[in-house]
Amino acid sequence: MASIQKRLPENVPGDFYVDLTCIDCDTCRQLAPDTFREFGDYSIVYRQPLTQEQSRLALMSLVACPTGSIGAGGQQNFRVGIDAFPFQIAENIYFCGFTAESSFGAWSYLIQRSEAEGGNILVDSPRFAMQFVKRLTDMGGVRKMFLTHRDDVADHQRFALNFNCERIMHAADGARRLGVERVIDGDAPVRVDDDVIIIVTPGHTRGHMVLLYKNKFLFTGDHLAWSPNRETLTAFRTVTWYSWPQQIRSMEKLLEYDFEWVLPGHGRIHHDSCENMRTHLKRCITWMKTQE
Ligand code: SF4
Repeated sequence: MASIQKRLPENVPGDFYVDLTCIDCDTCRQLAPDTFREFGDYSIVYRQPLTQEQSRLALMSLVACPTGSIGAGGQQNFRVGIDAFPFQIAENIYFCGFTAESSFGAWSYLIQRSEAEGGNILVDSPRFAMQFVKRLTDMGGVRKMFLTHRDDVADHQRFALNFNCERIMHAADGARRLGVERVIDGDAPVRVDDDVIIIVTPGHTRGHMVLLYKNKFLFTGDHLAWSPNRETLTAFRTVTWYSWPQQIRSMEKLLEYDFEWVLPGHGRIHHDSCENMRTHLKRCITWMKTQE
């Protein structure tokens, strides 16, 4: 819960505010850019919500915030923010909200599918919040939980216990130690079913993997994201824990695949044609080689 005593003085006056426990994860700025913006190592409220839609997005940010750093006075209906998640991004793809502090606010996603199609897949772990778990249950539960890498596992164990789902993770990121049911070894791509392929992308961590769904949606963890500043795809040089040259090679692997969406744990989502995505990916690889 945010604390009015810790309210950052840079917030504009009004109901919504950010307090000094903010960890600068970017979630609120991505969800509600009309309300939140960056200020040094924090987010602040630079404009109070004016419309109903702006209020809804601010309340969603409050719920999604990993550290409970967003406060709201007045007569806010917090259910509006809670009930918005999982939040549909496109087709059967949802942002889970309820980010976890232990994953530094990484975004997790739901692929909703019928049992005949293989069942629902949770990509990385949100916070195990009961309101969210109930919504997930109503939407068909979780059949598989794909963990891109060791940083974004959050409450994976509680989800696995609750939904009796199969977790999938790479051995090199400690999958066996975490008790994961399906451990991926080696560098070869793994076809899970007709629509899902796992691509092993070491670099950010040694066992990092991405998931490609229907040759359209690429869930990239901390491997690849959209940079609004550079207006192209990017990787995170300063938080490469394993190997930047290896991450470049992993990036080159992705040129073999078609995708229209990049859905990262950190950084921005992007949607474009396959052709444009490939152009951006090539640009990203060229840029990465200048950073060695
Ligand atoms: S979502 Fe929370 S932690 Fe993340 S930037 Fe906003 S206020 Fe800070």
